[in-house]
Amino acid sequence: MVREIMQVVETIEALREARAALTGRVGLVPTMGALHAGHLSLVEQARAECDAVMVSIFVNPTQFGPNEDLSRYPRDLAHDLSLLERAGVDVVFTPTPELMYPPDFQTWVEVAEVSKGLEGERRPGHFRGVATVVAKLFNLFQPHAAYFGQKDAQQVVVIKRMVLDLNFPLEIIVCPTQREADGLALSSRNVYLNADQRRAAAVLSRALLAAGAAYEGGERHPEKLRAAMLAVLQAEPLAQPEYVSAADARTLQELTLPGETPVLLSMAVRVGTTRLIDNMLLPPALNNRADLTAVLGR
Ligand code: AMP
Repeated sequence: MVREIMQVVETIEALREARAALTGRVGLVPTMGALHAGHLSLVEQARAECDAVMVSIFVNPTQFGPNEDLSRYPRDLAHDLSLLERAGVDVVFTPTPELMYPPDFQTWVEVAEVSKGLEGERRPGHFRGVATVVAKLFNLFQPHAAYFGQKDAQQVVVIKRMVLDLNFPLEIIVCPTQREADGLALSSRNVYLNADQRRAAAVLSRALLAAGAAYEGGERHPEKLRAAMLAVLQAEPLAQPEYVSAADARTLQELTLPGETPVLLSMAVRVGTTRLIDNMLLPPALNNRADLTAVLGR
């Protein structure tokens, strides 16, 4: 059943009731709000593949480190709801932190190996917060499919591992990164950038494309691919690279030898005080929904 009017629910009871009223295949799109066309591409894919679409908007405090941007993370619920209504969403869940984490909360989900490197190494505890909140959302929504963006590739690998290990009965679908005209990956955090920083921020996707072009030209050595990305990043004075990586797309282990396995190129770069991430699969032809869904993780 598809509802005519979007329902916004704020309590566990109301969510369970709204979920129970849905029939057929139910898709879930978890978000932190401040929605943009990247989020909406997930909603659109869910709409196309499911009978009903549910969205959560929750800025999850447990996935932010003590020195991260939790307090200033952009929030605009009214605008988000109007976008979701127009996109044909059936149910939106907007819990408070107190609802998701009552005072005696003490159960955590840790996905050990694939949470360790890349983002996990630079953001200790981040994926514990992500896995815990996503496990809660899966239990609450009981979706048949959940939609995630390539933009957060390691998150996809962590969630897929959790779904396998904890036997969640659902499918994880991965949708390609949506970008601005100059290549900058859409992100709620892009609003932090001033005009100069915004121009500089396009360097991340240029770096990925440079490594992609090297790959297409026959370069297979992971160190050379990392060097190709770093050279582009270092030519931009406003960009401070935190890491560049060429890893096995299934295990996220950093590659040391050339091989034929799909490669996940990824990076985190500071532009001013804003930390930006981006990634791309190699071969470049793999950056579509079906291949991303099949190749990332597991
Ligand atoms: P967030 O609100 O940042 O937690 O993101 C919610 C979901 O949207 C995650 O699965 C993200 O990977 C996905 N997402 C964020 N940015 C993009 C983008 N530019 N293109 C596609 N998906 C995205």
